[in-house]
Formats: sequence, C-alpha cells, structure tokens
Amino acid sequence: MVLSKKGLSINPSPTLSIDAKAKKMRADGIDVIGFGAGEPDFDTPEHVKKAAIAAIEAGFTKYTPASGTLELKQAICDKLKTENGLEYTPANIIVSNGAKHSLVNAFQAICNPGDEVIIPGPYWVSYPEMVKLVDAVPVIVNTTEESGFKFTVEQLRQALTEKTKAIVLNSPCNPTGMVYTKDELAAIADLAVNHGIFVISDEIYEKLIYDNYTHVSIASINDKIKEQTIIVNGMSKAYAMTGWRIGYTASNAQIAKIMANIQSHATSNPNSIAQKAALAAIRGPQDVIGTMVGEFVRRRDYMVERINAMPGLSCVKPNGAFYVLMNISKIFGKSFKGTTITNSDVFAELLLEHAKVALVPGSGFSIDTHVRLSYATSLNNITEGLNRIEAFLHDMHE
Ligand code: PMP
Ligand code: GLU
Repeated sequence: MVLSKKGLSINPSPTLSIDAKAKKMRADGIDVIGFGAGEPDFDTPEHVKKAAIAAIEAGFTKYTPASGTLELKQAICDKLKTENGLEYTPANIIVSNGAKHSLVNAFQAICNPGDEVIIPGPYWVSYPEMVKLVDAVPVIVNTTEESGFKFTVEQLRQALTEKTKAIVLNSPCNPTGMVYTKDELAAIADLAVNHGIFVISDEIYEKLIYDNYTHVSIASINDKIKEQTIIVNGMSKAYAMTGWRIGYTASNAQIAKIMANIQSHATSNPNSIAQKAALAAIRGPQDVIGTMVGEFVRRRDYMVERINAMPGLSCVKPNGAFYVLMNISKIFGKSFKGTTITNSDVFAELLLEHAKVALVPGSGFSIDTHVRLSYATSLNNITEGLNRIEAFLHDMHE
C-alpha cells in the first residue's frame, strides 16, 4: 500500500533519539554519560508542582478553551509587557503542547505549498522538518565559526526570492548558544519589513543567557516588525518543565485566530493541569532561574576550557542556552579501533560505543564538522564525560 510521501520524507528527531538511546543504555545498567539531552537536569520548582496538585484536587481536569485559559494568556501578556516591553492582549496568545507544537502551528498558519522559509544554520534539528510538514521549502543559510555563527543581513538578502515567506530566528540559539544584539535584530527587522516576510522568533532560551548579554525580542524593535513576528516561547527550558508540554505564541490577532482554529481540531486544549502549573511558574518567584543560570555558567566555563585544552578539539564560548558546539574537524582522518573518523556521525557512534559518552552529531544541525554537547548535567558528569573523551583521543591513531 502507498503511504504518505510527505510522512515518509520526515526524518526522526536526532536529539530525541540520542537522548532516548542514552537513557535506555542507563536503564540497562550501562554507565553512560549523557551530553545529548536538551533538557535542564534540575527538578521542576516545588511551587509549580504544588499548583498542579492543587489543580487536580480542585477538579481542574476538564477541557479548557482550545487555545488555553484566559488567566494563563493574561499572565503571558503581563510577562511580555514587563520583561519584553511588548503590548499584547489574550487575543494574541495561543497556548500549545510545548513550543514545538507552537512552531508547527505557526508554520501551518502562514505557509502555502512552495513557500520558502529561511533557516540560518547551524539550526535546531526540527525546523526544516516542520517546514516540510506544511509543504513549504526550507532554505538553509549557513553561518560559520569565524562569524561567531551569526548570519549577516547581506547573507539573508541573497537568500530572498519572491517565494520567501518567513525567516526563523532563534536567539539564544540551539545549538550554537549565540545571541543576537539589539542592533543586529534591528537590521534583520528592517529587511523583513521592507520585503514583507514573517519572522518566527523562537525565544525558548530567553532566560538562559550569560555574561553581559540580554535578551531582546525582535518584535520589540518597532510596531511594523511586531505585526510580522510570531514569538514562540514556553516553559520547558526556563522552569525545567520539559515533560509538562506548555508552549505559547504571541502574534497578530489574525494569525492567532488561524492557529486557534487549527489547534481546536488537532489537539484541543493543552493539558489543563499543566496550564495551572505554567501559571504558577510565570506568576511565582523567579529566583529558581537565577540559581540555574549560575550553575550553567560554571559548567559552561569548565567545559569550554577543557575542550579548548584538548589537542584536535575546539569550541567557541556560547553566550546562551546550554550547549557547546565542539569542532572535531582536526581529527578527521584519524582512526579508532580500525574505523576512520570521517564525519560527526562516525565520531558520535564511536564515542558512544567505546567511551560510553552520548552527544549529538552536528549532521542534524547542518554542521558535520561539529558535535553538540549539552551541559545540562552535573559538573561531576561533565568532568567524567570529558575525561572519557580525552582518553578516547589518546587512543586514536593517525
Ligand atoms: N525550540 C528550540 C530551539 C528547542 O531547543 C526546543 C527544545 N525542545 C524547542 C523549541 C521545543 O521546546 P518544547 O519542549 O517546549 O517543545
Ligand atoms: N530541544 C532539545 C534538544 O535540542 C530537546 C529535544 C528536542 O525536542 O529536540 O535537544
């Protein structure tokens, strides 16, 4: 029987599958160090869990409005006002089953078959597949380590065609950890406004930002770009709530309405209990984030220093999120137990099999000369994992 050509063309998520593989190995009693996971290793804050328990006990266990409760939408509007300087009303907000779902809603709301969506690389693995899901075409604009993994407006301009519908912006970025400044965003906004293209601004790592960087939402640059931007954000990373599945969008009301209609048929409301938990997270004390950020900075500094001290390996220091993109190109051509390291997949496989260290090959992020390590794991694990990588390098042959 003939199955969906589109369905068959979608690749599995490499980030999720590596994480699942590492978790399975651990469950089987294998001592594996996991640098694959893109999720905070901290527990969901106590007051958030309590809000969920209270929701269950109060019987808040029925359908809510399909695009989320009014109180949560209002809390999101308040957050966008105080933290991002953005005025929205609940009619602009759609609450979904994680930011991933929000992104799929956004592409569904704006794309027609054949539309092109510009995705700067290295990019998060799911963007191109999401674009393919709506019969649109991902157009990859690759950046390099030399430019700090930032694209220039000139690069964007060259990628524009009359079919360009949108550009995906992800700052702080997964996997590079790079953060766009206000001036850089203003230049991107100008281009988007002048050419009438949407910006899908994935701000999920907004709060995980270090050094002297601050997060600026491109929608806050001016009213015109705000009208053309769909902000995507969620609870997963800032509040260690990956399993609760709450994400949201802020967009103009027309796009919000389209997404609400789509969601009303696809999933109905996101989990009612998780919505109460998200409300507690947004309205409650924010000091938990400061504690996580402090810990992430310590781990990042340690990881970056160790990697740059290892012969053949290097990385640039990320300013946000919790990933380090490690350059392995200098060890290409060397071999380990008879296998020659020719790309990021081979390196990741060898490392998992022989050193019991899980990391994500760069191939899925469009950068095959690199691998991604998550530092959302304890300093002890990071130390042990890096020791194992060092020993692995030592055992390689010319
Ligand atoms: N965007 C980026 C850049 C991410 O890394 C992730 C990680 N899962 C998501 C969106 C989706 O997050 P969520 O868990 O809310 O679906
Ligand atoms: N976003 C995280 C990552 O990049 C979690 C896994 C996923 O959803 O892709 O690892």
